[in-house]
Amino acid sequence: MSALPDDPAVERSPSDGPAGDGLRPVHVLTVTGVTAVTPAVRRVVLSGSPAAVAAAGPTVSLLVPRVGDAVPRWPRVAKDGRIVWPDGAHGVSLRSYTARRQDPVAGEVEIDFVLHGDGPAAAWAAAALPGAPLGVAGGGSLGDRPAGSLLLVGDETAIPAISRILDTAAPSTRGVVLLEVAGTEEEQPLAVPDGISVRWLHRGGLAPGESTLLADAVAELSRPEGDDVFAWVAAESATVRAIRADLRARWGLGRAQHHAIGYWRRGRAMSPAG
Ligand SMILES: Cc1cc2nc3c(=O)[nH]c(=O)nc-3n(C[C@H](O)[C@H](O)[C@H](O)COP(=O)(O)OP(=O)(O)OC[C@H]3O[C@@H](n4cnc5c(N)ncnc54)[C@H](O)[C@@H]3O)c2cc1C
Repeated sequence: MSALPDDPAVERSPSDGPAGDGLRPVHVLTVTGVTAVTPAVRRVVLSGSPAAVAAAGPTVSLLVPRVGDAVPRWPRVAKDGRIVWPDGAHGVSLRSYTARRQDPVAGEVEIDFVLHGDGPAAAWAAAALPGAPLGVAGGGSLGDRPAGSLLLVGDETAIPAISRILDTAAPSTRGVVLLEVAGTEEEQPLAVPDGISVRWLHRGGLAPGESTLLADAVAELSRPEGDDVFAWVAAESATVRAIRADLRARWGLGRAQHHAIGYWRRGRAMSPAG
C-alpha cells in the first residue's frame, strides 16, 4: 500500500496537469458521526459512494486535511497508483489506517483513530465533526492468511485489523492474541473463536512504544506444532522488529508464515506535512 511508512511512493507534480493527463481524483468520504470507543480511541463513521467505501480498506491510505479545512486541495492518483500532489502548500497528510467496518452497499465505513496526541491524523480525528471531508487514495490488504494456528500481536493501532482478522477466522482456528494497551479502560470487546485465547497487556504509566510487554510475551510462547501456522504482528516499529526476529529465529517461520509491520515509529511522523 502506498502510504506505509517505508514505502511512500509519492511524488510531486510539476503542475496540477491538464485535464486528460490520466490522473484521477481521489475518493472523498464525509463524516457522519463520531463516537468514543475508549478514552484513547475515537471511531469516525464516514459515508461515500459504494466505490469510495470499497476502496477504503481493509488498510486505507487516507488523505487527512488540516483541522477545519472544509475544502482541501486534494492530490490526484496516477494510473499506477502514485499520488500526485498539487504544487505548493496544501495541508493534506497521507496516513495509513484500517477500516474497522466497511459496507459499500450502505455506503458506510468506520475507522478507529488512536488519539495519541500530536500528528495530523490524530488531531483531525479528535476534532472531526459531521460534514468534514476525508480523502481516500487507495486501499490494500491486511497481509493476513488463514491458518489452523494463528498468533496475532499488536497495540491499540492494530486492534481494528486484528478484529477483522478474527471476524474471518474459521471457527476451528486455534491460537493466541496478544494486545498491548494502556490499561483496562482501553480493552475492547472482540469476537473470538473458542480455540483462540486473548491476553491484554497493560503498559500502565509507560508511554506507547516504550514497553517490551509484547516482545516479552511472544518470547515466552512455544511454536505450535505443524506448518499450518501464521503470525500477524503490528505495533511500534522497534517492537515489531524484535518480535519478527524472534519468530523467524526461534519459531523458524518462513516468509509465507508471517506478516510483521511497523504501524508507527516513536518520535517520527509517518510522512512530512504537505
Ligand atoms: C497499514 C496501517 C494501518 C494502520 N491502522 C491504524 C488504525 O486503524 N488506527 C490507528 O489509530 N492507527 C493506525 N495505524 C497507525 C497510524 O498510521 C500511525 O499512528 C500514524 O503515525 C498516525 O498519524 P498522525 O498524523 O496522527 O501522527 P504522525 O504525524 O505520523 O506522528 C506524529 C508523532 O506521533 C507519534 N505517534 C504516531 N502514532 C502514535 C501512536 N499510535 N501512539 C503514540 N505516538 C504515536 C509519532 O512517533 C510522532 O512522534 C496504521 C498504520 C499502518 C501502517
